[in-house]
Formats: sequence, C-alpha cells, structure tokens
Amino acid sequence: MLLAFRNGRMLTDAGIETGRTLLVRNGRIEAIVNAREVVGPDRTIDLNGRLLVPGFIDTQVNGGGGVLFNDDPSVASIAAIGRAHRRFGTTGFLPTLISDDLHVVERAIGAVRDAIAQGVPGVLGIHIEGPFLSNERRGVHDSSKLRSLDRDAVELLTTRHGGVTMATLAPERTTPAIIRALSDAGVIVSAGHTNATYEELQPALAAGVRGFTHLFNAMSQLTSREPGAVGAALAHADSWVGLIVDGHHVHPEALKIALRAKQLDRFMLVSDAMPSVGTEVNEFRIQGRLITIDGDRIVDDEGRLAGAHLDMASAVLNTCQMLGVDLVDAVRMASRNPAEFLKLGGDMGRIAPGQRANFALVDGELNVLETWIDGAQSQAP
Ligand SMILES: [Zn+2]
Repeated sequence: MLLAFRNGRMLTDAGIETGRTLLVRNGRIEAIVNAREVVGPDRTIDLNGRLLVPGFIDTQVNGGGGVLFNDDPSVASIAAIGRAHRRFGTTGFLPTLISDDLHVVERAIGAVRDAIAQGVPGVLGIHIEGPFLSNERRGVHDSSKLRSLDRDAVELLTTRHGGVTMATLAPERTTPAIIRALSDAGVIVSAGHTNATYEELQPALAAGVRGFTHLFNAMSQLTSREPGAVGAALAHADSWVGLIVDGHHVHPEALKIALRAKQLDRFMLVSDAMPSVGTEVNEFRIQGRLITIDGDRIVDDEGRLAGAHLDMASAVLNTCQMLGVDLVDAVRMASRNPAEFLKLGGDMGRIAPGQRANFALVDGELNVLETWIDGAQSQAP
C-alpha cells in the first residue's frame, strides 16, 4: 500500500518545504519527492495547504482522557491516555507512573508489555518516575512510597517488555554502580526529584545518567556557591533536559536562560499531563488525595503543583510564544530530541526516508487536525 501525502507544507530536515509529496509504504516513509514524480499511489491524501510535522513524542504522561495511569495500570488505561493525547499530535508516549509500591510498578510494566504486544497505538514503553526519589524534593509524590534503589529494584527496572524503560531517580538514593547497571541494561536514566549537589551528580552523570526530569522543578537549585542539579544539567553538554512549558511550572525567563546554556538539541518538551487533559473534569485524586484544576494549573490541597494540564501541541505553541523559539525548533524539541533521548532517533522523530510514518497535520494556530501512526490515520474517538 503506497500512500501519497500531497498539496501541503511539510517540516523535514530541510525545514518547512512546499511543493513536495511524501510517500509512505507499509507504515514507513519511503521518499520525499517533487509532486510531478509521483506515479500511481494506492491512496492520495490531500493536505489542503496545511503543515505536516513529525508526530510529538511525550516522555512524561501521567494521564489523560480522565485516566490516571497509577490508578489502574492496565492496557485499557494506556489506550485511553494515548487516545486523549493523540488529538494533540502525540504519536509516541511513555505512560508515566509516579512513586508507588513496587508491586504497582511491576503491574505497570506488565500492562505496558501487553499494550505493546497488542499494538496499542503510540505506546513506546514506560517512564517509572520514582519511588527512588528525594524526600526533600518529592513534590506531590507520597513520602510513604519513597525508598532507596538497591540491587533488588534493578531487577524490576530492567524487566523486559518490548519497549523503552525510562527511570527518574534521585542519584543520592542509589550508587553510581547501580546507575551503571541500569544504563548498561538499556534503561534511560534521568535524574529528578533530587536534592543532590552538583558534586554528587558528577559521578552519576559519568555512570550513565542521560537526562534530567522537568528541569528546575523538584530539584536542587542553582545558587552562588552550589550549582545544584539545575547547574549540573545546564553545565553538562551531552545530557537531555525535560521542560514543562505551561507558564506555571517555570518562569519563561528562567527557561530562556536555560535555552542559552546548552545546545537546543538537548531540550525536550514534556506534558507531565494529568487525567484532566482532553476532558472537562475539574478535580481528581492521586492516591486518595484531592487534586483540583484551577484554570490551567493543577494543585493539591496545599497549593503545590501536581503535574500539568498541558498537551504537546500547546507545549510547542507556548515554546514559540513564551520563549521566542521558532516553530521548526519548537517542533524539534517535541519530536526529534525526545526520540534521540530515548535512543529511538533512527526510527522516529523526523519526516525523513526510513522513519516510521508518524505525523500530525496542524493549522496556523497549531491546532491538530489529523494524526498518523505507522501510516494509519487516527480513528474518531
Ligand atoms: Zn515529577
């Protein structure tokens, strides 16, 4: 089956191109050609002058569509979260489990394994955010769930499930040797909810910490005599950093300073989305605690931010409008950069020959009109 996407603009490695036709065969991009070169596609998709961008990849999604992954780590929950975010251009995501008991972590990994085996669209693996976190920097994570990361937990975190495992941990709650063991086993290790000093983070980075979870939030801050985790993240050229660009989690000026501190290809947008995304609900519970939505802020009963009411298309738009980043770069922060962070860059994150046919079609205001995953168009919910 040969699909031809024509009569639109497309964001390729060359920037935003016009007058090109994209050919997709068996779920992958076969070629990008000039319109007159196309011969006999089985189906032509008229883009009506709109912009085709690489599908967004969200490495941190706690919920959506009224579902919180922790509440019910099941295939049905993963599918519902994927459906809710797909409307906003997300074609790849890691359902994200916040700190919980280890038997819940085990169940979540099993659900991801089943979801991948059953072909649930978009699920790329799992993000296990805790429970190996700093109590001082726990944010809304339940302190009674937190623990140190020992050898027993390594076995759990390296359980195979057919996708990617990303683990957010506080390096001070484990050892460089354990970080090395996780990294060597293929786990994408990210430092987050950490109170580690700049000095403590250096051996962790050397041992395989690949990124930092929600830069600035829930981590030791950059101060005059102690650069903290924020300083370690910004000083370390190779690591990736996740950004929540909702105008609430981090002041836009602080994010602009961060963007000037290292290469743009190391920044990735995340939603840190909660169940409210894609719904009209104005409250829900996390492990029994009431969480309310106040405008587009989500807070617990003590007023602490509890994840975001954010989707990836809005994150891209905010990155353009609040941070002054151009559209090509903002989309890259939501597609190619997270793909490379997850070591999936050979497979997705760009509109280029050989890549999986994962796209979003957007209008001038970045409203998502349609998505494709592996060449399959989204079905109406
Ligand atoms: Zn967090």
